[in-house]
Amino acid sequence: KVHVAAEDRYEKPEYRRAGNSGLDLPAFSLGLWQNFGVDRPYQSQREIVLHAFDLGITHFDNADRYGPPHRAAQRFFGKVLKRDLAPYRDELILSTKAGNPIGPSPYHRGGSRKSLLASLDQSLRDLGTDYVDIFYSHSPDPTTPLEETVGALVSAVEQGKALYVGLSNYPPERTRDAAELLRQAGVPLLVHQPRYSIFDRGPELNGLLKLADEDGFGLVVYSPLAQGLLTGKYLDGIPADARARNSAFLTPDVIDDTYRRRATALNRIAEQRGQSLAQLALQWVLRRPQVTSALIGASSTWQLDHNVKALGFPPLSEEELALIDEHGVH
Ligand code: NDP
Repeated sequence: KVHVAAEDRYEKPEYRRAGNSGLDLPAFSLGLWQNFGVDRPYQSQREIVLHAFDLGITHFDNADRYGPPHRAAQRFFGKVLKRDLAPYRDELILSTKAGNPIGPSPYHRGGSRKSLLASLDQSLRDLGTDYVDIFYSHSPDPTTPLEETVGALVSAVEQGKALYVGLSNYPPERTRDAAELLRQAGVPLLVHQPRYSIFDRGPELNGLLKLADEDGFGLVVYSPLAQGLLTGKYLDGIPADARARNSAFLTPDVIDDTYRRRATALNRIAEQRGQSLAQLALQWVLRRPQVTSALIGASSTWQLDHNVKALGFPPLSEEELALIDEHGVH
């Protein structure tokens, strides 16, 4: 049966303005990096995406690489879009990224105009849509002139294939230069996508948060749960269906005594606040005004329901933030 979206989907969630733009994004966005490849059943994947939309999650983050195999997550999303979400296309913010390797061809990697624009065309075919809302350069490519990469992003907008552009994993200096070139071209940088969590303070330490303020772009932060490490799931071992058993990107060796000590201490702080560690970790990234959206993954609808409740708790006090620093920083 074709899905009909929940009528009350815009009542509860919080939407936040992305930097100085006119665009609001949901406080929680769903990423399709893991859990949406051909190795998982279509029906349960479809259920997660539709449930997210019913919860007011309007933003779905994809990339040419996501699978397995590469491109599968976008093909999957294209099916759901065609069958269930087509009537809501103007209520969706779809993003894609290009530039990370997706194959042996020299045009299937890097920040050249050729590789970015060819990838975008293929992504539009896979997603079955005329345009994406946000087109990202997935990673900086020091071997390609920044003018060429930025020029490809600008062309994507000029050709009507993307509404906005973003950068991911760019260090602050290169972000500043790219943002300046984009501004000159009349296509201001909408968002930057860095990794940020209690366990990964990069954007605080390298100046990206400050640059977001100065330059007026938003942050869509990925892996805010450190891929699941900032949840209670690994406190008593590694569940059989958990990512640390099933993914090349999170291996069981990270679940060691040091990790358990830190996670247990953080879990205690969360318990004292009447919330879960996952909810604490999400509230922690979203306390920053520069963070437009926390980009989460989910392998079940339960995880979504649980995680979106993270903003229903009292703000973190200075004492609690200091305690989190004590246990969260290596
Ligand atoms: P998270 O840190 O949110 O990790 C999500 C995973 O944690 C879930 O798949 C699930 O894994 C587990 N989890 C989530 N909620 C709970 C819960 N309440 N209790 C227990 N376990 C839970 O984010 P991801 O690392 O998945 O990244 C999110 C998105 O960010 C990606 O999909 C992608 O869109 C983007 N990203 C971008 C990158 C870039 O280079 N630009 C790089 C990486 C990610 P499980 O149940 O399987 O154990």
